[in-house]
Amino acid sequence: MTILDGKALSNKIKEEVKQEVEELKNKTNITPGLAVILVGDDPASATYVASKARACKNAGIYSVEHKMPKTTTQEELLETIDKMNKDEKLDGILVQLPLPKHIDTRTVLEKINPLKDVDGFHPYNVGRMVSNLDTFLPATPFGVMRMFEEHNIDLQGKDVVVIGRSDIVGKPMASLLTNAGATVSVCHSKTKDLNSYTKKADIVVIAVGIPHLLKADMIKEGAIVIDVGINRLDTGKLTGDAHFEDCKDKCSFITPVPGGVGPMTIAMLLKNTVKAAKLREKRENKC
Ligand code: NAP
Repeated sequence: MTILDGKALSNKIKEEVKQEVEELKNKTNITPGLAVILVGDDPASATYVASKARACKNAGIYSVEHKMPKTTTQEELLETIDKMNKDEKLDGILVQLPLPKHIDTRTVLEKINPLKDVDGFHPYNVGRMVSNLDTFLPATPFGVMRMFEEHNIDLQGKDVVVIGRSDIVGKPMASLLTNAGATVSVCHSKTKDLNSYTKKADIVVIAVGIPHLLKADMIKEGAIVIDVGINRLDTGKLTGDAHFEDCKDKCSFITPVPGGVGPMTIAMLLKNTVKAAKLREKRENKC
């Protein structure tokens, strides 16, 4: 069994990004810029935003943390995004989710210029991803794909079960795997017999938000388990959607929580920001 170490791989990617940023600065004078908008005072969201800002700083990316009160109206948020769309120093704009209930997330995400949509949530970029065209890939599934690549895990013809069908993890994950040649089943809360899918799967990707939902008796010998879930137990400890201790000896590869998929997400966001800055360079060179 191999533990897929997301922490080590994310550090390697962050180093790659740092070098790319330096090269871009030397060659073009462009410093990649990322704005992260946080509406409200949810402590978990604030922690994520702070760690994104820290990662940007370490990579040499200019970053703006734009905090707005939870009473912010949808109109005010849309105006802020509009200004950022026009700000040439900003290559990427990210709105930290979830948003307060009085704001329509779809409307907000669609306001972001697709060329600055480093989260890859704009329908334009979602469509390009599904069509297997070059675009910004949502950071978490993008990170999982990079893990497969790094460990030479061949996806062609593999039976993969993705548990969870959210717009940010499950659905894009299923698309990327399908494009990579896997045979993908997507399971969710309405799936009649989850075990009948997972037991046959070569690879299980779980993104549900229920601690220890996936157990050893649900997977086949030699399966690969990618655990996207991040759950905080009453003890304060973080744990995944898979029961790591129970599953690990049956797996050929497994991601731990923490230290698996989690650290990959920020690393891939940095990659997307540099990609956006390179698009700026192309635009400027055309003028
Ligand atoms: P979400 O939007 O709440 O979606 C959860 C999905 O799980 C839904 O599709 C739901 O089905 C399905 N589900 C719920 N109960 C189920 C069950 N008993 N059996 C099978 N499927 C079930 O969650 P998300 O945003 O995708 O996040 C999922 C987990 O990943 C969370 O723990 C989150 O914290 C974590 N996460 C981690 C990262 C990272 O960087 N590692 C990034 C994003 C999310 P329905 O659609 O039918 O309701």
